[in-house]
Amino acid sequence: MTTPLLGQMMDVPLTVSSLLAHASRHFGTTEIVSKRIEGDVHRYTYRDCEKRAKQLAQALMALDVQPGERIGTLAWNGYRHLEAYYGTTGFGAVCHTINPRLFPEQIAWIINDADDSYVLFDTTFAQLIECLALLCPKVRGWIALADDAHLPAVHAPMPLISYETFLKPHDGAFDWPLLDERQASYLCYTSGTTGNPKGALYSHRSTVLHAYAGALPDAMCLSARDSVLPVVPMFHANAWGMPHAAPLTGAKLVLPGKDLDGKSLFELMQAERVTYSAGVPTVWLGLLNYMKEAGVRLSSLQRAVIGGSACPPSMLRTFEEYGVEAIHGWGMTEMSPLGTLAKLNWEQSQRPPEEQRRLREKQGHVIYGVDMKIVGDDGRDLPWDGVAFGELHTRGPWVIKRYFQKDDSPLVDGWFPTGDVATIDREGFMRITDRSKDVIKSGGEWISSIEIENIAIAHPAVAEAACIACAHPKWLQRPLLVVVKRKDAEVTRDELLAFYAGKVAKWWMPDDVVFVNELPHTAVGKLHKVKLREQFCDHPLPSALEVENGPLSNERAMGGAESKPAAG
Ligand code: AMP
Repeated sequence: MTTPLLGQMMDVPLTVSSLLAHASRHFGTTEIVSKRIEGDVHRYTYRDCEKRAKQLAQALMALDVQPGERIGTLAWNGYRHLEAYYGTTGFGAVCHTINPRLFPEQIAWIINDADDSYVLFDTTFAQLIECLALLCPKVRGWIALADDAHLPAVHAPMPLISYETFLKPHDGAFDWPLLDERQASYLCYTSGTTGNPKGALYSHRSTVLHAYAGALPDAMCLSARDSVLPVVPMFHANAWGMPHAAPLTGAKLVLPGKDLDGKSLFELMQAERVTYSAGVPTVWLGLLNYMKEAGVRLSSLQRAVIGGSACPPSMLRTFEEYGVEAIHGWGMTEMSPLGTLAKLNWEQSQRPPEEQRRLREKQGHVIYGVDMKIVGDDGRDLPWDGVAFGELHTRGPWVIKRYFQKDDSPLVDGWFPTGDVATIDREGFMRITDRSKDVIKSGGEWISSIEIENIAIAHPAVAEAACIACAHPKWLQRPLLVVVKRKDAEVTRDELLAFYAGKVAKWWMPDDVVFVNELPHTAVGKLHKVKLREQFCDHPLPSALEVENGPLSNERAMGGAESKPAAG
């Protein structure tokens, strides 16, 4: 056997600290702007940020925190949270970002599962810390991301330390150690609407490769001329990689803190000439509603990625009317999280606008580094014809191979099963039809809840909509539409159902509509369908009552009378 000829290039490990070191050295004066929970706006530079991240690293090492130990964060998007990202991972500790919107018991469970040794928290969560300190006795210290003047009064078993006092004795004068790029960098738990959340443990290598790919033109398209505002929280899959891709490219970072309402976001975007942003549809809905009501337009925003849940086509169109390129994206915590983005190639971008729109409404094309396929119930690969749908499987250097603290691997033949049901068309554009748990199966045929919701959202009187399965004596399940009306708008059940005519096959039409004041959301702002199903599982569908009480008169309940429409 011959020895392979090895390349003769340097073995420089891909470490998270190298991203900030690069920005500090080459974009040292570029700004990081944060809306603080104290109420004011804080500004400093990448150079300042690196110095303080190093101070944090020194402070943690002085407490004998070892590489591999987990440091928890419970914080909004802000400069101190960013310092925590780099100040922990920089010397080999693991930054464990925790979602503060979960229930205290869930947070305690996560902190204990992760075995966090210290937790850094924003003072908005002071009361939560009182409760967590009792439930998480192994945490050695709780550090408030504030100065002494803003230290909250908390009755915890141990005294709180203010972050600024913690940093003060250290000068930030040391070189980041060279780490093995396979060492763990971040620990992010999935939102887990059922069962306990599971941890995805990223590595330095996966984080850096993900930042490279995420910055590319057909992904976030970031450059040193951009001003980037991550609306998606830094506790949701590393804010989709923006805190890494921004220093990699030298883009300005704008961190919005806790105020994510439409007005606050609009004002910050305008003041900081934000060119790029990303978030879940619910947050964009708030911004677009504010802009409509206030009659204002964004003057600098060029691109917005919408992901985390399905982006309604009507939202893409509204952004277009405002002159903003809205990009539908898909990913998951287990994938660091970027997977696909709906960007067109040159030939596709020459097609008639309606055809382009149809492609851009899908979840999109993989970015380099991610491979995907769809498989049927029998485990066999399904064709890329835009019609066949099955479970989406992925693989790549920033996709997990197992969950934190779990011995068994979830992989199937080396692929990660996402739990999403999708089609892929001939051009490689993927479309999610449902989360497998949310699929509606009527008379053995699948109905895409996402498609039903997208149509409802396109109605001018509808602010938000969710489609769930309701039990049915004949078809086993039928779709129920739950709707929040826009302020001051009116629409009746029958008008809404009539709106579906010609848009989907008759048997896909919801059997009933329920109007509610608000829909439940998960801790990361997605529709909480588990809760909705609990709430409406006993909803009396008119078609079900007809089956029970006599012959069906409602044509909509004639599931299977028409052939299933193409989902691609
Ligand atoms: P999370 O790990 O909390 O980010 O959740 C990942 C899941 O969110 C995916 O597996 C999908 O079910 C869903 N998701 C993310 N992006 C989209 C999208 N663009 N359309 C539909 N579902 C999405």
